Amino acid sequence: MISRIRAYLTEIPLREPFRIALGTSTVSRNVVIEVETRDGITGMGEASPSKRVLGEDIESVVSTLNMIYHKISGWESLSLEKAYSLLHGTSGSPSAKAALDMALLDIVGKDLGVPVFRLLGGFRDSIETDITIGIMDPEEQARRAVMHVESGFRILKVKLGEDPETDIRRVRAVRDAVGEGIKIRVDANQGWSVEEAIRVIDRISGYDVELVEQPVRWDDLSGLAEVRKNSPVPVAADESVKTPEDAIRAIEMDAVDIINIKLMKSEGICGAVRIAHISEAAGVKNMVGCMGESGVGITAAVHVAQALRNIEYCDLDSDLLHAEDIVEEGRASISNGTRRVSEKPGLGLKELRRGMLKPIMSLPRQ
Ligand code: MN
Repeated sequence: MISRIRAYLTEIPLREPFRIALGTSTVSRNVVIEVETRDGITGMGEASPSKRVLGEDIESVVSTLNMIYHKISGWESLSLEKAYSLLHGTSGSPSAKAALDMALLDIVGKDLGVPVFRLLGGFRDSIETDITIGIMDPEEQARRAVMHVESGFRILKVKLGEDPETDIRRVRAVRDAVGEGIKIRVDANQGWSVEEAIRVIDRISGYDVELVEQPVRWDDLSGLAEVRKNSPVPVAADESVKTPEDAIRAIEMDAVDIINIKLMKSEGICGAVRIAHISEAAGVKNMVGCMGESGVGITAAVHVAQALRNIEYCDLDSDLLHAEDIVEEGRASISNGTRRVSEKPGLGLKELRRGMLKPIMSLPRQ
């Protein structure tokens, strides 16, 4: 039985301003939670709210945590299926629900003595991630690309979606700088019209681009399908697909080759697994990506990425863009672009840097 929830605000500065087609950020404002059971197990989770993509903020995260905690704290036993049904059937902040869902998986894993990725399928023991290069001048992006390759990354995610002609120069500059053998994927974050997308993709396809993410507006699925029909490069949906229901719609419209799953959009791990299964049955591949999670949320996402066969692409790097991390011990490791979670039960998170956490909520069992 759940006996307490504690929530903390954490504000983590980025190493440098991060610019994408939707705007620029300099800090990640997240909410970390600890959910305790009567048996003394603590589960951890994190919400990284997104105003632009999910219409939420710290306040809506806290009120959603409050509302849902009141419902689950009375349960005699913990059921992930019941929890998903409750989370998915309740309005409110998706990232708050993701934090709760992560914490519940952490508790179940610890209770059973198995790591979450083994519980969910245990398909692989590690996964290679890309590293993201925000929008900058083409030459500057090329310099970052070389720097990342020198530090061991072999997959680059280049942010585009500003000006079509400059975007083409960006991809050319990065490819020229890193040479062959390095994967380049691009993400326009809705920045192009359908016509612009078709034109830019045609021009950059000569630079061996692995995939193009969210070329057009999130709510233009028929536009996305039009781009895909004309694209020599696989098309991925990010902002267009948040939930399992969105995945079905995008697949029915023939709009996607790849769906980027994010725990913050899917309301957590249970929703992410559902999207992966729907995608797999439809012959659509998955990426697992992130918003601005620190080591807590990223570790949960690496568990999902390692667990499921259909997840062939990994974009889990937000904690690497942070100047510091709230996890003292137990975070998913990174080595030469490859991430790996520990074999410890649950999410495997051991210790948090308490000085970086500001308590904002503490509720006992109702
Ligand atoms: Mn994206």
